[in-house]
Amino acid sequence: MAERPASRVTSEALFERASQVIPGGVNSPVRSFRSVGGHPYFVARGEGAYVWDADDNRLLDFVQSYGASILGHAHPAVVRAVARAAERGTTFGAPTEAEVDLAEAIRARVPGCEMIRLVSSGTEATMSAIRVARGFTGRDRIVKFDGCYHGHSDGLLAGGGSGVATLGLPDSAGVPAGAVADTVVAPYNVVPELDERVACVIVEPVAANMGLVPPAEGFLEGVRAACDAVGALLIFDEVITGFRLGEGGAGAHTGVVPDLWCFGKVIGGGLPVGAFGGRADVLGVLAPLGPVYQAGTLSGNPLATAAGLAVLDQLHPDAYADLSVRVTEFGARFAQVLNDALVAGSVTDVEGRNLTARVPVVGPLFGLFFVPEGEPDVVDYPGASASAATGLYARMFRAMLDRGVALAPGPYEIAFPSMAHGEEEMTMALEVASAAADEVLAG
Ligand SMILES: *Cc1c(COP(=O)(O)O)cnc(C)c1O
Repeated sequence: MAERPASRVTSEALFERASQVIPGGVNSPVRSFRSVGGHPYFVARGEGAYVWDADDNRLLDFVQSYGASILGHAHPAVVRAVARAAERGTTFGAPTEAEVDLAEAIRARVPGCEMIRLVSSGTEATMSAIRVARGFTGRDRIVKFDGCYHGHSDGLLAGGGSGVATLGLPDSAGVPAGAVADTVVAPYNVVPELDERVACVIVEPVAANMGLVPPAEGFLEGVRAACDAVGALLIFDEVITGFRLGEGGAGAHTGVVPDLWCFGKVIGGGLPVGAFGGRADVLGVLAPLGPVYQAGTLSGNPLATAAGLAVLDQLHPDAYADLSVRVTEFGARFAQVLNDALVAGSVTDVEGRNLTARVPVVGPLFGLFFVPEGEPDVVDYPGASASAATGLYARMFRAMLDRGVALAPGPYEIAFPSMAHGEEEMTMALEVASAAADEVLAG
């Protein structure tokens, strides 16, 4: 069993200090714990599957920087690669060999991704891929799916209204209506109707920012065909799924090949990185070859490329397969433990319907939803929202954190077990889940 954190006084004091100088005390809103209650733990260090907070409590970490740390924290190969790179200089503003190595490593693993440009975040990758698609097609309109997250650029911060495709509304204050005027928001898992105004469709091939929602059978194939029919480009936002679902990412996992890919998280080995790539003729529109401008002072940064290469070097098909087996077994038992507790506690939603737990697993990723008995699994954003509204994720989150297991602090997030999450860790997580469920669901 994991140990119960004895004290959080240092984290509390740090959060108090942070809140005086950083809006909300955090540099990315989900870290604030607003949607689960309480205050965040501050991390002092991490190793493998674990982090230690500022009060030296050990936490079994399923956040892993939202998937950026697929090998677990402070993997020796990554630490060594970054240290060696730092000794040679951290940024030059001139090309380096490691950039070529990383682009080649990506191309070698992702069939169809012929040319790659490196950037410094997933947000930059999606924003730039869309600019490329617009430049290539000469069209303005883009289609995204409700509940998919593609970073925080203006044009992609658009929310949907109803269950049909609609022109997007700004999903954040500060985003002008004009910035999303060419963004259509469509329901996930429904093939949208396109016309010849559409430059591109951008999709998370496995949605992982509204909980974990796998693509319905035929969905990605249908989107591919719809794009082809009108000459629109298909963009896979693989910032989470890239090098996570397997070496070839979601493209290889699902058999559907997009025109453009966006990567981030895993390929930076925990350093700020992103990449977008695709067909050579499409990437040919980028400056300096073509008219589409895109640039970055720290793009292809030596530390980031060193870390990314070190990570890709450690990832082999067997490692993915082993982790996926552990996570699949865990997922089934996790659902069982939660469902037993929900029955014992006769837990219902506001309409009095019995709630059940659903633990979707795709490759080594797992999610957690609470759905009324007899209802199908969550397939879209309204379903994910209904699950979040039960409040049960937040309660499980807190009860597990109190017992030393850190899930992501929000009901729309998913869990990112790393290669360092072995049998021992998954067993510990299950024991903790069981005790937590007994307290907050059965009790
Ligand atoms: C995290 C994420 C992004 C944004 O990446 P940042 O590095 O946070 O800018 C884009 N798309 C998806 C699918 C993501 O999960």
